[in-house]
Amino acid sequence: MFQINENYLQLGESYLFSTIARKVDQFSAAHPGADIIRLGIGDVTLPLSPAVIEALHRSVDEMGVKESFRGYGPEQGYLFLREAIAGTDFQKRGIDIAPDEIFVSDGSKSDTGNIGDILGEGNVVAITDPVYPVYLDTTLMRIGKTNKIRLLRCSDENGFLPEIPDERVDIVYLCYPNNPTGTVMTREELKKWVMWALEQKSLILFDAAYEAFISDETIPRSIYEIDGANRCAIEFRSFSKNAGFTGLRCSYTVVPQELKGTTANGKEVSLHHLWNRRQSTKFNGTAYIVQRAAEAVYSPQGQQEMREMVGYYMHNAQLIRDGLIEKGWTLFGGENAPYIWLKCPGDMDSWTFFDRLLAECHVVGTPGVGFGSAGEGYFRLTAFNSYEKTVEAIERIKKWEY
Ligand code: PLP
Repeated sequence: MFQINENYLQLGESYLFSTIARKVDQFSAAHPGADIIRLGIGDVTLPLSPAVIEALHRSVDEMGVKESFRGYGPEQGYLFLREAIAGTDFQKRGIDIAPDEIFVSDGSKSDTGNIGDILGEGNVVAITDPVYPVYLDTTLMRIGKTNKIRLLRCSDENGFLPEIPDERVDIVYLCYPNNPTGTVMTREELKKWVMWALEQKSLILFDAAYEAFISDETIPRSIYEIDGANRCAIEFRSFSKNAGFTGLRCSYTVVPQELKGTTANGKEVSLHHLWNRRQSTKFNGTAYIVQRAAEAVYSPQGQQEMREMVGYYMHNAQLIRDGLIEKGWTLFGGENAPYIWLKCPGDMDSWTFFDRLLAECHVVGTPGVGFGSAGEGYFRLTAFNSYEKTVEAIERIKKWEY
């Protein structure tokens, strides 16, 4: 009889979003007239921008003509897109990343989940708590529940930023701006991590899916703004939240040419080479029309539309922050990130707060404990609903006597 990968049996059930959906359904059934506002969604709500739609139409037409039809493309992504990315996201900002260090993909979820394919099983892996669950679950799928996983506890005491480990760690996942806490890392803070990784010969897996939401110029948008990061870090970026590609699917991963790992015998091997090998073997590229759409994000019109889209969500974030601060609640994030992480008032636990917010304000959010045990007593609100709904939700919360 064949055997399964038993590591999958060690994964916690992902009850979070199904439990939320069930509770909301039950509440709606019992209160048919209730106007429920969802501030729990991690998906975007604005449609794709005109520049992106125009590029999609154009490239769809190309696919219907013999001379311009495209079959399989390069597994790493078309050069037109990799050049646009390297030029705009890095070189224009003074960061030395070349098109051949960029791998276009269909989502950061896939890439942050798949990166473990090129990493050895003996590594000690550090993951923050609370966390975007993909890092933890895919690590568990790969190595199982072993003593090789370290949770870096984040709390209000450390401003929901992890401390540098004081024991051996080979790989660390960092995500800034952070989902779920909305926190960002200053240049000084990020520099400490890069110095630590270079000294320890450790690897940083840096998820920058929300970099476009940073408006404070002093906050790094890429880990490669820090000297030496190209020798210790892989960066993941996505078009999902900045350009509304959650349904279209496009992202990219930067694996610098200088980044090296070692074999058990201490021989240095290029991670770029390994990721290229992995992608060419297991991935046949992102759709041509989707890559043309992503290219359009880098046109002057596309950049302007992206800024407007991000600005719309960040205006919502500001509304949420202002409303909750007025209420005297403790919160993190929402300034350079679309997530607001609040301490449940009155020492309520995350699920009690969820139930009461739903029952008494008809507003839905996400219990912090769903992102890890360190999230207990906290709650995540997102800026991705419409302006009107966000205003209404905050008005209800402001009037709420809990
Ligand atoms: N990384 C983080 C931190 C996220 O929050 C998300 C989506 O919510 C992703 C990656 C996934 O992005 P993509 O849509 O590119 O797969």
